[in-house]
Amino acid sequence: MEENKIMNETLNEGPILFSKGIFNEMIQHGMECIPYEACGLLSGKENHVITIWPLKNERKSQKQFFVSEKIVEQTLKEIEKSGEFLQAIYHTHPTTSPIPSSVDLANHADENIAMVIISYKQKTPLVKWYVLMHKQYAERIITLI
Ligand SMILES: [Zn+2]
Repeated sequence: MEENKIMNETLNEGPILFSKGIFNEMIQHGMECIPYEACGLLSGKENHVITIWPLKNERKSQKQFFVSEKIVEQTLKEIEKSGEFLQAIYHTHPTTSPIPSSVDLANHADENIAMVIISYKQKTPLVKWYVLMHKQYAERIITLI
């Protein structure tokens, strides 16, 4: 019960404001990588997503992605330099629904960072923004601006 209460408070923070160009670029990145999974980082200020950092999936897989620590660290440094902060890690589900898998939840490095999943299961790609807490997840609304 206590956990649910925490999740509800988190979700009352209001929508994530996503620049339309960045949102489309993210969908495009995932599309280009099909049938493999794609992943990347999103940074910005407060609730506003401003910059996309596509990462190269070093393990060509339809069910997993892998990016070396070195590349992640380099990208995080660049984000810091830009004056923005890391908001989310996105990855794609080329053929399945945009629901976090048990592997997704287990591998997510930091629960302060959101998990974004883009699904290409249907003709129109679906994007979901998840807030994580204690290996549970709740959706946050995305507003395109
Ligand atoms: Zn996944």
